[in-house]
Amino acid sequence: MTQSVSVVVIGGGQAGLAAGYHLRRLGIEFVILDAQAAPGGAWQHAWDSLHLFSPATFSSLPGRPMPHQSGEVYPDAQHVVGYLTDYEKRYELPVIRPVQVHSVHPAVAGLRVETDTGTWHAQAVISATGTWWRPFLPAVPGRDVFRGRQLHTVDYRSPQDFSGQRVIVVGGGNSGAQIAADLAEHADLTWATARPPRYLADDIDGRALFDAATARRRALETGGADTGGVAGLGDIVAVPPVRAARDAGLLQAMPMFTRLTEAGPIWPDGSRTPAAAIIWATGFRPTLAHLAPLRLRDRDGRVPTVGTRAIDEPRLHLLGYGDWTGPASATLIGVGRPARDAARDLSALLRSKDC
Ligand code: FAD
Repeated sequence: MTQSVSVVVIGGGQAGLAAGYHLRRLGIEFVILDAQAAPGGAWQHAWDSLHLFSPATFSSLPGRPMPHQSGEVYPDAQHVVGYLTDYEKRYELPVIRPVQVHSVHPAVAGLRVETDTGTWHAQAVISATGTWWRPFLPAVPGRDVFRGRQLHTVDYRSPQDFSGQRVIVVGGGNSGAQIAADLAEHADLTWATARPPRYLADDIDGRALFDAATARRRALETGGADTGGVAGLGDIVAVPPVRAARDAGLLQAMPMFTRLTEAGPIWPDGSRTPAAAIIWATGFRPTLAHLAPLRLRDRDGRVPTVGTRAIDEPRLHLLGYGDWTGPASATLIGVGRPARDAARDLSALLRSKDC
């Protein structure tokens, strides 16, 4: 049996909830289909010591400030899970889980959403499936011959799993720096980065990233010069554990190794480091496989958008995947505005006869 609804939101993480908040305010009928068994999106799966890079006040979704976490300036992932759990209850958001959306298809007067629990017909869809579910691993020669453990950020839990082992962490972003700092006192750590690590100044945190993204959006909206957004500030927020490890001299980055052997990496100078494990903190790609039947992806694997709206399919919005779906939209504080814009756009579409 096919169920009908005006809007299906795919994904019940922070982006899906922010969309739900604004759809509700505009009186639009919707459901949120989420593959997870419990609220919290990707935050449920973060490593044990992960803390936000912004204080709670600067990590809030629309309508409801994130409460302060006792004893912590930068809340931990479990605090975010608690906040998102409370958020969807408070606004009575119609999240159905666990529901895995397999595919979205064009249909008469809307889109057909196929899931593992049945079919939905929607006039429009907001895809908010995040990136955590599609870890990226670079094509490094010998990656398949290395005999030790290989993990991605998504698999990392705790430094105790690597006590006394020689571990290579790859990646010069926030995840790489935080995991390297986490391991520094437990493992024999080598940190490999494609370019020297770029820290934000110690006195600025995730707020600055949001401010820079906002300044860029304003400049572009008003026809001003591109300010470059967050890229010019640096890659790594010096959260307290990273700062402490760096200042103790424990975060010495090596230029990226050239290849892997069965035993471990070979470095540009020809030296070798036998290793028990490699942790790839090498980022993510947007989780978009369910949109394949719409045939909207460009050669980079993204769906071309204006704001959040897919250019070639105005009944589809993409939310929370990165700056290409709204400045800072892949952050807690940044997703509210593009979510509002998507809901407004869909409200206009639903009132018109175009869907
Ligand atoms: P997710 O949290 O991944 O939620 C997407 C939901 O969609 C999930 O529940 C998933 O199961 C579901 N889903 C996926 N595919 C389907 C499908 N086919 N059918 C149904 N459901 C599906 N941001 C900050 O603001 N501050 C920070 O400090 C910060 N730190 C970060 C640290 C790390 C290591 C990472 C990776 C990200 C961090 N971010 C931070 C960025 C961002 O806030 C998070 O990635 C956040 O989880 C993104 O939320 P989301 O709702 O877009 O995606």
